[in-house]
Amino acid sequence: MTITLQDCRALDAQDPLLSLRELFHIPHGTIYLDGNSLGVMPRSAPARVAEVVTLEWGTDLIQSWNKHGWFSKPGQVGDKIARLIGAAPGTVVATDSTSVNLFKVLSAAMHLAEADSPGRKRIVSERSNFPTDLYIAQALCRERGFELVLVEPEEISAALTRDVAVLMLTHVNYRTGAMHDMPAVTAAAQSTGALMLWDLAHSAGAVPVDLTAANADYAVGCGYKYLNGGPGAPAFVWVNPKHADRFWQPLAGWWGHATPFEFTPDYRPAPGITRYQCGTQPMISLAALECGVDTLLAAETHGGMAALRRKSLALTDLFISLVRERCEGHGLGLATPMDHAQRGSQVCLTRAEGAYAIVQALIARGVVGDFRAGDGDRHKDILRFGFTPLYIGFEDVWHAVDHLHQVLQTGEWRRPEFNQKHAVT
Ligand SMILES: *Cc1c(COP(=O)(O)O)cnc(C)c1O
Repeated sequence: MTITLQDCRALDAQDPLLSLRELFHIPHGTIYLDGNSLGVMPRSAPARVAEVVTLEWGTDLIQSWNKHGWFSKPGQVGDKIARLIGAAPGTVVATDSTSVNLFKVLSAAMHLAEADSPGRKRIVSERSNFPTDLYIAQALCRERGFELVLVEPEEISAALTRDVAVLMLTHVNYRTGAMHDMPAVTAAAQSTGALMLWDLAHSAGAVPVDLTAANADYAVGCGYKYLNGGPGAPAFVWVNPKHADRFWQPLAGWWGHATPFEFTPDYRPAPGITRYQCGTQPMISLAALECGVDTLLAAETHGGMAALRRKSLALTDLFISLVRERCEGHGLGLATPMDHAQRGSQVCLTRAEGAYAIVQALIARGVVGDFRAGDGDRHKDILRFGFTPLYIGFEDVWHAVDHLHQVLQTGEWRRPEFNQKHAVT
């Protein structure tokens, strides 16, 4: 039952999404398994960004707010993202960063809880959630007299006591790639009277999401990972329409005002999701983000998110099988669930020794993954590989594991240059 390079090539030949790879600039000789951290550049981005710079900024200048639709861009790009996350048109804006958007929705959720169910003063999240999410929650809890309770995934339901205002989770865990059952967890939280806030940083464009069907309360997500929007791309925010008009978000800037160009001294929030904007947006970055989102919408005529999901699972299954077959005896463990229902679009391997150096040795060979430090106790050091079905093929997976095998077999990772830590891992 050995898997061969020919088998992988045959899988590529049958792949209905294969042609979409042409939408991206993939550096020669690189197998890029880090699209879960910074997506690959769409081929359309340089020309589009140049157009925004030279024509819209360079020539049309301030007229571009109207002439090129700059002012309505956050909502327009938001509507495109909405198609990927089961949100209705007019309920998503592309704006600010994930951290800032989380601050806005978590604050609004705390206001809502205080109004509807006073006495609920707890936010529950996972200890292994992405740190910025936990830091933002800590800051808000300090300011507002709430308590942040951090638990392990299997402790979530027991933590949903009657004093919990908000359950705040990241749908797909950034370290392990483990995915929550969004409808079930949302229903469980709401049945105890808590509001459900999802971070979709590792979900949007990676796995099917239906916020409307799950009846979630709030969601945020990232523009530069699977949406391929470029470094520092604006993030997005969604609020269930039934809540959107009830509270101000705390960063009540003029772009969230009902009539910003009346320049009135008093804040009057715009209806709906528009009030979740704050101030002037980075138009050049928004243009690049739109190119990235368009690469995902291009998949709509090739089977859409369902086809992307099928391929993503086939890629991660293949990677896991090949690692088991070819790297046996090298001390690698698997941190990502085998169960498809619990797996995002990445695979995380563990190793007691040398995880960082192995990743560095792979990068030197053109196989780009990344390393996430463990905490020594419950979580081991992780070698993280993201599989972006828009531009990763089955043959790429074969070569990636072939390189991993060689790095381990030869002990190449022990070389000093692979053991020097860089600032960004
Ligand atoms: C990537 C990521 C972020 C990034 O936040 P920024 O504000 O863009 O730096 C936040 N949360 C999660 C869960 C992430 O994976």
